[in-house]
Amino acid sequence: MFKSFHPPVRTLMGPGPSDVNPRVTAAMGAPTIGHLDPAFVSLMDEIKQLLQYAFKTKNRLTIPVSAPGSAGMECTFTNLLEPGDKAIVCQNGVFGGRMKENVERCGATAIMVQDAWGSAVDPQKVEDALKANPSVKLLAFVHAETSTGALSDAKRLTELAHQYGALSLVDSVTGLGGVALDVDGWGIDAIYSGTQKCLSCPPGLSPVSFGERAVAVIKQRKHKVQSWFLDMALVMAYWEGDGSRTYHHTAPVNSMYGLHEALVILAEEGLEQSWARHAYHHRALAAGVTAMGLNFVVKQEQRLPQLNSITVPEGVKEAEVRARLLKEYNLEIGAGLGALAGKVWRIGLMGESASQTNVLLCLGALDAILSDMGAPINSGKAVSAAMAVYKQ
Ligand SMILES: *Cc1c(COP(=O)(O)O)cnc(C)c1O
Repeated sequence: MFKSFHPPVRTLMGPGPSDVNPRVTAAMGAPTIGHLDPAFVSLMDEIKQLLQYAFKTKNRLTIPVSAPGSAGMECTFTNLLEPGDKAIVCQNGVFGGRMKENVERCGATAIMVQDAWGSAVDPQKVEDALKANPSVKLLAFVHAETSTGALSDAKRLTELAHQYGALSLVDSVTGLGGVALDVDGWGIDAIYSGTQKCLSCPPGLSPVSFGERAVAVIKQRKHKVQSWFLDMALVMAYWEGDGSRTYHHTAPVNSMYGLHEALVILAEEGLEQSWARHAYHHRALAAGVTAMGLNFVVKQEQRLPQLNSITVPEGVKEAEVRARLLKEYNLEIGAGLGALAGKVWRIGLMGESASQTNVLLCLGALDAILSDMGAPINSGKAVSAAMAVYKQ
């Protein structure tokens, strides 16, 4: 006989999903109602307003796509690009490579700007590429590269795109709620995010926002968007039809309850306070990691507070450390991806996971396991180094 599934209770300090606030899971357990129920329609309106707050935008076209972050990526590319278009794609980790795939599947050409994994996107290289390719429709880049922990200057890159007449398309799946982001202030034209990173919501939805210039581009399309499900013209009629919403797909009703609650929690804390909390716990974690004698992949001024890539010390079996953290401490941290597979650990401090309890647990557990394995670290120093930051 099959039995009910009871997941273990874990502490999630990987690259997402992050720890979920119990208020969010409780909200998701509320009774399911019809997706055209007037009560649900008001919830949708509030989710839009809360997302506008989180993105710092007045964009009307700000909604959660009913699928995870990768669908938000696909949604922004398929709506903005048509066959024959050219786009500049910056790659400094895994996700830039996925952007390239998306561009090509739209029948467009991707002009790649490459930076080392672990570095921010170099604005000078981007400017050179924009200069060399005057007919480019958009510049796409990852704000917070989760595969390496590098933060790129979304404001500067967006300015450059505009200076050369291109739109900016930004992946802030890991950025939203965790680091400074100002969609209107910086003039970002299209952006997508996810729920399971710094919003601390279960995975499954992808907030997106399109500015006026992007909406104008969508309205002038010559070809239909190749994806029926992600066609913003159709989705808009579902989310926006004043008084007369037309059925497009059945919204994941209970997931929307969860996103709403997660955004209410963010608004209660305050967006800027949330950014500051991520930075604060990062400082404590970094003090502990450094005291242990371990090294960060990304240089200090380009580091994401919410994603800490740490080089695995010489001779240490990285997968065994993660397996022991999970088994002995119920603690999940991330492995390296792509070019960094086997070489780094990725410690997430996203949303609810950015807390003193988590930082001290992670440092204490890593210290104990690495010391037990005879790894070349400074044993017994990490927790007190982090505590010194907390006591300041
Ligand atoms: C997680 C992530 C994605 C993909 O989101 P999914 O919800 O896993 O589909 C895209 N870009 C970045 C930078 C991410 O961190």
